[in-house]
Amino acid sequence: MNTAADTPLSSTPPLLDEIRALLDDPTLRDDPLHAPLTRLYALACDQHERMARLIRISDGYHGWSQSRAEDLNAQFDRHVRRLEKLARISDRYQNSLREVSESLREASITDALTGLRNRRYLMERLREESGLGKRSAQVYALAMVDVDRFKAINDRFGHETGDVVLHRIAGALHGAIREYDICGRWGGEEFLLILPGTRLADGRELIERVHAQIRHLSIDAGPGYGIQVSISTGLTEYRPGEAPTHTLARADAALLQAKESGRDRVVAI
Ligand code: GH3
Ligand code: MG
Ligand code: MG
Repeated sequence: MNTAADTPLSSTPPLLDEIRALLDDPTLRDDPLHAPLTRLYALACDQHERMARLIRISDGYHGWSQSRAEDLNAQFDRHVRRLEKLARISDRYQNSLREVSESLREASITDALTGLRNRRYLMERLREESGLGKRSAQVYALAMVDVDRFKAINDRFGHETGDVVLHRIAGALHGAIREYDICGRWGGEEFLLILPGTRLADGRELIERVHAQIRHLSIDAGPGYGIQVSISTGLTEYRPGEAPTHTLARADAALLQAKESGRDRVVAI
């Protein structure tokens, strides 16, 4: 058991210091309370020491758990930053995939020379418009356009100038249609116009305007020389229930009539 003499008192409370002083007083050595007070003092010192140890342990644990929590927080922040970076990379990757697939789709339905829609797209849209026509009895006008005597232009001015002529005609066609009309290159020097919701008479008006515009074109073919061109058009109207190939065949037949009857005209059947 600790005695008053060997109990460490460096940080003891003032009351314990007072009791210690009394116990050390030689005049009180024989007091009957001296022995129990000595035991009580030792007990108090012991408890004080235990309490101090517990506080040290608790402080140590608190410090450890705080730095552990800080470590975990830092680790968590690093993970979050890494995940955010991954999400950004994945977003960028998906966006570029989307852009690539959009430009592939765009390229697959565009005619490289004129920038108009190509035959594949025109066939898709013809099927769609005919399907819609079958369900809702909505008609569309279909115009097959062919450049007149185009071979002679190629022969006289060269293939490159021929390409420029096709480009200019494509521009005139595209400029004449409405937002929801479709215009594309069917092949060679032939173009197709699909005019949804348009009856034959209205389609004819639109096509006649295009013819007039093309007649007034002057396409540069060297210093001081402009090429004049004309087109012939076969026009028809979708008949509800028929296959798109039938509508196409009728537009083709109308075009043939336009050619046979002198070119530079619209024949509607
Ligand atoms: P028609 O009035 O009867 O239509 O006579 P055409 O000379 O226009 O018709 P034809 O079918 O005899 O000739 C069409 C020409 O179009 C032949 C072909 O070399 C030319 N052609 C087709 N595609 C292109 C092209 O992409 N660029 C150029 N420059 N010429 C083309
Ligand atoms: Mg032709
Ligand atoms: Mg032609």
